[in-house]
Amino acid sequence: MKKLIYLDNAATTKTAQEVVDAMLPYFTEQFGNPSSVYSFAAQNKEAVTLQREKIANLIHAKTNEIYFTAGGTESDNWAIKATAEAYENKGKHIITSKIEHHAVLHTCEYLEKQRGFEVTYLDVDENGTVKLEDLKAAIRPDTILITIMYANNEIGTIQPIKEIGEIAHEHGILFHTDAVQAFGQIPIDVEECHIDMLSASGHKLNGPKGIGMLYIRTGVKIRSFVHGGSQERKRRAGTENVPGIIGLGKAVERAERTMEERSRKESELRDYLIERIEQEIPYAKLNGDRQNRLPNNVNFSFRFIEGESLLIMLDMKGICASSGSACTSGSLDPSHVLLAIGLPHEIAHGSLRMTLGEDTTKEELDFVVESLKEIVANLRSMSPLYEDFIKKQSK
Ligand code: PLP
Repeated sequence: MKKLIYLDNAATTKTAQEVVDAMLPYFTEQFGNPSSVYSFAAQNKEAVTLQREKIANLIHAKTNEIYFTAGGTESDNWAIKATAEAYENKGKHIITSKIEHHAVLHTCEYLEKQRGFEVTYLDVDENGTVKLEDLKAAIRPDTILITIMYANNEIGTIQPIKEIGEIAHEHGILFHTDAVQAFGQIPIDVEECHIDMLSASGHKLNGPKGIGMLYIRTGVKIRSFVHGGSQERKRRAGTENVPGIIGLGKAVERAERTMEERSRKESELRDYLIERIEQEIPYAKLNGDRQNRLPNNVNFSFRFIEGESLLIMLDMKGICASSGSACTSGSLDPSHVLLAIGLPHEIAHGSLRMTLGEDTTKEELDFVVESLKEIVANLRSMSPLYEDFIKKQSK
């Protein structure tokens, strides 16, 4: 069997064996419902609290400020919709950016269309960074929420979160950040950054799918999102996903333990891949900020190439990558993120995201570069646009 080279860790990661091992007994032996009174089940309540504590420590929050959800999408929906509902008497204006994940963008659009809110979608600069002056200028007396992602899932750009938090704090506006791509990858401090709400998801940090969390700062009057029983301090009903919570806790424990070393290794490999592509493949443009970038993200646009064709040919060589975010691939529209950083449609179409993981090796990346060189040259040799371009160049 062909060896798989997995470079799509921003879409999802392999669940670590250590995480699976920690979860398994909670399916078979320790299956009790944490709400039951007998001690067999009450042990699970304690286990859940322990995971909450680990997660809180990772982001410098308090244990009772962590609420378990079914993933990043639910956390984003909860933070935005329930804040809107709770604070609509104060105002109906929300500020976000044009490069958010659809879990945020579509939630904001829903509030605009169905609930009469006004949303400002901030432009970003050519590296995908929100401009603080634009943010300040967008603030109005009726602004109740700023929701800006910690790091972008397509181009890896890390936002000036501390500065954004300070601006929100100075104006008495709540600040939510979608940290799905940053959580467990880079250090996060909700206190230092004045973050009031933060979304995270288990499957991006070698944890299980279908589990996530929302950090809600004490005092934020967000409404309950899922109604029913009194789980999660009456704010998110439903029997707890105990195996998932145990898995998330274990993934967080691992992420904390390995973060420094993993980040060093991944960013070295990332820079190696970037350098080789820039030196060896002509007309390739790196997307995203060169410095303020997630340690594992590489995103390039190759002129005269269709991203989808590139993906198919990489797949034939056993290489898994992505042409935009997983949620938008399959659609013919170019990525909203690449358009927002100013790429013309035809260049945005030829983009490739490769996101490294803890197991990625230099040998794999060497194979990827050699494959890319061959595939890009092949695809260009079939492109009339490329032919025209070369003819013009040689005149
Ligand atoms: N936000 C960002 C930035 C993401 O990258 C993703 C997943 O790709 C999500 C939200 C959604 O998370 P989940 O898949 O856990 O619902």
